[in-house]
Amino acid sequence: MDVSAPVTAADYALERNPNAASAPDRELAMEAPAFGMVFTDHMARATWTLEGGWGNRRVEPFADLSLHPGATVLHYSQQVFEGLKAYRWADGSTRLFRPEGNARRMAASAARLSLPPVSEDEFLASVEALLAVDGDWVPTQGESSLYLRPLLMGTEACLGVRPSHEVEYLLMACPVGAYFAGGVRPVSIWVAQGFHRAGEGGTGQAKTGGNYAGSLMPQQQAQDNGCDQVLFLDAREDKYIEELGGMNVFAVRRDGTVVTPRVTGTILEGVTRDSVIELLRAEGREVVERDIALEDLRSGIADGSVVELFACGTAAVVTPIARLVSPSFDEVVADGGPGTLTMHVRGALTDIQYGRAEDRFGWMTRVS
Ligand SMILES: *Cc1c(COP(=O)(O)O)cnc(C)c1O
Repeated sequence: MDVSAPVTAADYALERNPNAASAPDRELAMEAPAFGMVFTDHMARATWTLEGGWGNRRVEPFADLSLHPGATVLHYSQQVFEGLKAYRWADGSTRLFRPEGNARRMAASAARLSLPPVSEDEFLASVEALLAVDGDWVPTQGESSLYLRPLLMGTEACLGVRPSHEVEYLLMACPVGAYFAGGVRPVSIWVAQGFHRAGEGGTGQAKTGGNYAGSLMPQQQAQDNGCDQVLFLDAREDKYIEELGGMNVFAVRRDGTVVTPRVTGTILEGVTRDSVIELLRAEGREVVERDIALEDLRSGIADGSVVELFACGTAAVVTPIARLVSPSFDEVVADGGPGTLTMHVRGALTDIQYGRAEDRFGWMTRVS
């Protein structure tokens, strides 16, 4: 065997799920799925060992895992994940949005967590292998999609603190409905009080579960204060806005320029963030990546020089932000409604994703 040949979907051995959902059951499950609550019939897997590297690629029935209680991931959170979507186009084909971006980011996240790299072709092959058997789970109606969740975790039974000698790659999939089922609703944002998502030299730039675990309590405080999401400030000065728990942020100025925090190592570089920047620049708009002090943002909202605020990420695409709230202020952005440019960006992105507009950036990858 040529060990340097790229991995393809054909390298995944298929074990069909004898209890796969019937077509009517599948349709029923896909009618109005809550995010991440409905899973398809199969999952793709591959196993890495220190001696043998990646192997044992398979697509098997979706089921509970068998893990040793001493597995590294359970104790020391040696884990990274990804999130991307497969879209059904009107012509019946299935497309992925910039999967190479997710593959590259997973490799970078893995390096930070001392996990073995998953190559770009390995990543794409696993998605193709799973979609080949679960392709009917890509929803057809409205702005729904099949959310793909790749996961990498240390599974060796060892309580010693060191990188696991055994690692599992898992790919699962969830049909998801339109994020804003009842129409786009602007959200309220709570500014985290005394808690930070990431510090310099930490894991903020990696997509790893630990970052999310630490964001749960501040997120709860946001909800306790009547807000939807939490906005984190930088850990060093508690002064500059960074991002939400799982979404990047942008502000639109009255003069038409768009600003977003520059990536410094403590911000997760979203594929959506990158796409928004590219899209707006292609339209001739000035997009500035720089430090944004909360105080400047606040006064800009108050004096009308900041006219729109939005968050973005794979799950919700683009979400308008109506309010910025803390114990000492409550700033309503413009009239609180979804901003014009926010909705334009959202429309332009989803039009490309669903094939309603020409894929002029070459972002879509056809898988079937
Ligand atoms: C995944 C994620 C994002 C958004 O990234 P996309 O690639 O656009 O989905 C933003 N921030 C954090 C912390 C994330 O984990």
